Amino acid sequence: MIVPACRLTGILMMNIYRARWIIPIEGPPIEHGILAVDNGQIVQVASAHEKPGLTDSAASSIQDFGESILLPGFVNAHTHLELTCYRDQLSPGPLWTWLEQLTALRFRSEAEPLEREAVRIGAAESLAAGVTCVGDISRTGLSVEVLKKSPIRKVCFLELISGASRPPNDASTLATAFEHMAKLAEPERLVIGVSPHAVYSVVREELSAVATLAKATRAPLTMHLLETDEEVAWLARGEGVVAEVLNRHSLPNADVVIDTDVLEWLSQTGVLSGSPLLAHVNYVSDRQLDRLAESRATVVWCPRAHRFFGHANHRWRAMLSRRVNVCVGTDSAASNESLSILDELRLVRRNHPDVPPEVILEMGTLRGAVGLGLDDIVGSLKLGKRADFVKVPVNPNGDKDPVLNLLDGEKAVDGVWVDGAAVV
Ligand SMILES: [Zn+2]
Repeated sequence: MIVPACRLTGILMMNIYRARWIIPIEGPPIEHGILAVDNGQIVQVASAHEKPGLTDSAASSIQDFGESILLPGFVNAHTHLELTCYRDQLSPGPLWTWLEQLTALRFRSEAEPLEREAVRIGAAESLAAGVTCVGDISRTGLSVEVLKKSPIRKVCFLELISGASRPPNDASTLATAFEHMAKLAEPERLVIGVSPHAVYSVVREELSAVATLAKATRAPLTMHLLETDEEVAWLARGEGVVAEVLNRHSLPNADVVIDTDVLEWLSQTGVLSGSPLLAHVNYVSDRQLDRLAESRATVVWCPRAHRFFGHANHRWRAMLSRRVNVCVGTDSAASNESLSILDELRLVRRNHPDVPPEVILEMGTLRGAVGLGLDDIVGSLKLGKRADFVKVPVNPNGDKDPVLNLLDGEKAVDGVWVDGAAVV
């Protein structure tokens, strides 16, 4: 219901949204909540039963969503939207087989326009699923121009693979691409980041150079880390499947032996002293967990991609208990059935019913925003933050607790706002 409000106040940009529940994330759920948004910014989150600081007459519109839940837009901290075109084309199984098949698909002449369109489709799908912010990795940077046209909030990570057939393939081509893409950046809306792909695919001096670039430009940095058993074996002995893959593609790290713990390696190259966003970290020792806890790194766990690749159990709970920031990502649609963070969280909830549901929800919202360096502006419904939020109908047969109602239910997101503008 939209009620035209009194326009005599002169405040015409403020919109008030009412709903049965608001889950602000930072603070308990609010029953019969009010969310007020002025010029894209949250100016009030309160209960209708409390004396509101702002009156309805100050609003240009009031929308009452009734039996609905409003919560912050979901944050997908790890995805590759350009791979959306390879959905259902690759079978579940070991990552290395998948990667070889994916590489063959990506080297076809028609791949580039397909991937460009995939970014557009992936962003639209993400928004429809309530993902209002993505950390998206692009191999050559083609996603940036496409995502600029989408209302989704994004950190566009430019990927570096040392010696790859296409740039960025060394620190200098990455720096050039970064400089070029930085011209397309928009404060708070389109951030350019860097992504040295992984320790095995980026040589040491280039890893250092990327870490230096990230620090100098305050760009977020993400990389894949400890994703497979085979990576752990390569780190220890410089041999095995990873060495074979590197050799096959004539990549420079094929004969390298990392003669120290990989987290020490990341520390020496300057990566760990930033606030890196480390994707996967699927195979990690207690000592490495302690080292992560001493850093300001965030770990992105991708539950359904994890299952797709048949990995051993992820140690996200051990990470959380050490106060490592853990968030959730979907990885690409080439190893997942959807780009929905809510789908990920519902799976986590089903498999781990003993974990407080609030913590699970945080992993798909505020913790992802922390990992992307955007927690000052999104990730929770809080005064002063940007109004990125979603609406989900209350399941009338579900739990009375709105977080459980959301995570245990199957209701889909049916309204999405970014910067206060309805985008779905
Ligand atoms: Zn990835």
